[in-house]
This record gives sequence, C-alpha cells and structure tokens, in this order.
Amino acid sequence: MSIISKDILKAIALLNAEELVAIPTETVYGLAGNIYSEKAIKSIFETKQRPFFNPLIVHISSKEYLENIVDYIPEKAKLLADAFWPGPITLVLKKKTTIPDLITAGKDTVAVRIPNHPATLALLKQLDFPLAAPSANPFNRISPTKAEHVEAYFKDNIKMVLDGGACKSGIESTIIGFDNDEPIIYRLGSTAIEDIEAVVGKIKVKNSTAELGQSQKEVSPDAPGMLERHYAPRTKTILTDNIINVIKMHPNKRIGVILFKNQIKDPNVTSQIILSENGDLPEAASKLYDTLHQLDSQNLDVIIAEKFPDYGLGKSINDRLKRATK
Ligand code: AMP
Ligand code: MG
Repeated sequence: MSIISKDILKAIALLNAEELVAIPTETVYGLAGNIYSEKAIKSIFETKQRPFFNPLIVHISSKEYLENIVDYIPEKAKLLADAFWPGPITLVLKKKTTIPDLITAGKDTVAVRIPNHPATLALLKQLDFPLAAPSANPFNRISPTKAEHVEAYFKDNIKMVLDGGACKSGIESTIIGFDNDEPIIYRLGSTAIEDIEAVVGKIKVKNSTAELGQSQKEVSPDAPGMLERHYAPRTKTILTDNIINVIKMHPNKRIGVILFKNQIKDPNVTSQIILSENGDLPEAASKLYDTLHQLDSQNLDVIIAEKFPDYGLGKSINDRLKRATK
C-alpha cells in the first residue's frame, strides 16, 4: 500500500505520537518530526543516515512564534523575514536554551524558517510544536521534489508522506547567518541573491565550494553540514560550459544531458532534458532535481549538465550541479 496521503489529521496524529511524516514545502519535501521529541529527532538522523554534526532547520508557522525559538533578532533579519516569509529563506539566529542541542549540532544558533506551502502551513498551525524537517532523502542523495521520490526512498521506513504535489521552487532554501548583525549567505538556494540584496544591501557569500579541493570537506564551521558532495545522483555527473566537447570525450557511452533552454542535435546523446525552453531560471530550478531523479534511473554511463548563467537562480542551480559532480 502507498504511504502517500493527503490526510492532514493522520499526519497530526503521527507527529503527536513522536513519529515522522514527510511533508511538502515549496523547496523540497522534508522529513519532519517534533523538535522537542528526542525520539523523533534521533529517528530523523537514523532514517536519513545523516551525521549528527549536520544541524536541522526548524519550521514554524508565524513570525510571532520566532520569539519562542530565538533570543535575539538583528534588524536585517527582521527585514528579511518581513520580505520573504513564508518563503525559501532560512535565518540562523541565537537560539533559546530550550532548543535541544540535537537540533543545532551543539551550536548556540538555530536555523529557522516559515515554509510557503498551504498543506504544511495548515499542519504547523494545528501542532503545539515546530517541526524539524531536513530534506526527505538519504544522506548525499538527490533531494525529493515529489511525494513519489520520498516514497521510493523511504516506503519501508516511514508511515506517511503528506501529498502536496510537485514542489514549486524545487531547490533548498537560501540560508543566511549573521556576523555582528550583518547578514552572510551560508547556502545558495531558492531565493536569488539579487532579491536579498534589494532588501538588505550588498551581501557576502560564505566560502564558495569552488575553493575547496578535498572531498566531503565542510565549507565552513559557521555553516556545518554544507558538504562539498551532496545532492548527488549515482550516475557519474559532469558540469561543463562546453557540452559538445564533453560529449565527444565519451564515445560509445549512454549519455544523458541536462540543458537550460536549447536542444542539441547529437546522435550520441541517449537522453536529453531541457529545463526551461523560455530561458526562465525559476522554472529551470523547479525541474532540476526531478530531472536528476529521471536521468539517474535510466542506466546511463554519464550525465552531462551545461553550466547555467551565473546570476539569479542560475547561481543556485550551478551550486547544486557542482556538488552533484563530486
Ligand atoms: P537541510 O538539510 O536542507 O535541512 O539543511 C540544513 C542545513 O542548514 C545544514 O546542513 C546547515 O548547513 C544549515 N544549518 C542548520 N542549522 C545551522 C546553524 N545553527 N548554523 C549554521 N548553519 C545551520
Ligand atoms: Mg538536504
């Protein structure tokens, strides 16, 4: 029997019983549990096989609730929350002592956001506690953007995926931390830097992954768990700005290609997927993970992705593709 269901009351009952439920958000599906239940939180880490040093994002349903989670809110954090919540921006702020160490990997900060999905907002409003919800995929695998992706990963491990359709944004939230009240981007994501800068002015991006060589190295102690390899298909994946050349380098192979807007005509390509024929970066972002899921199930020898434009959500798409190639 399928674990996919639209029954919110069932989701509430399971979460109240300290069990996990996969929930839809506008970014990706999350594997959710009560932040105050040690049993639920341990089970999130076990189910995902996620290392404990990798902290979880706390999901709340209103800005007013934020004061139950954090001790201090810098002025620019307020501006960002007002501009983008509910939505794909996560703020890392000084935590209240009541937030369990398991959630924050022992740090004195906590990551928090209001997701923008009607089913999950309705669910959160009917619970007495916030939900910790990392992406509902095994550690290092491709994030799920459809209920079916979660079911394929976890049908034997969890009792329910709350069905909310395909995720509209399709890439994880943009994570923003603060240093002396000044915002810094810890992780690129579904909210474009340009949109953030329109609200708080010029903003720095913490150590881009491009600067790192060593596999599985963490990007920064301030953004724990940001591993260089992540979001990865099992098929070897290459990111390039010269796709024709890289195809030539793989004669007699089964090749899958990910393109921004233009088809390529090359008889050596087994499968090609265009992310947005109109050249719309948000549309391309929303289709990225589903495309990786599809190509990864086609027994290809290699997936070759073309580099996206280096602005707007193109930056976030390139970041995820880069991590998929490690
Ligand atoms: P996800 O697995 O998409 O829910 O993302 C969780 C990510 O949020 C982690 O891997 C961290 O990079 C980041 N994060 C969560 N909590 C913190 C924190 N207290 N400080 C810095 N980054 C955090
Ligand atoms: Mg994840």
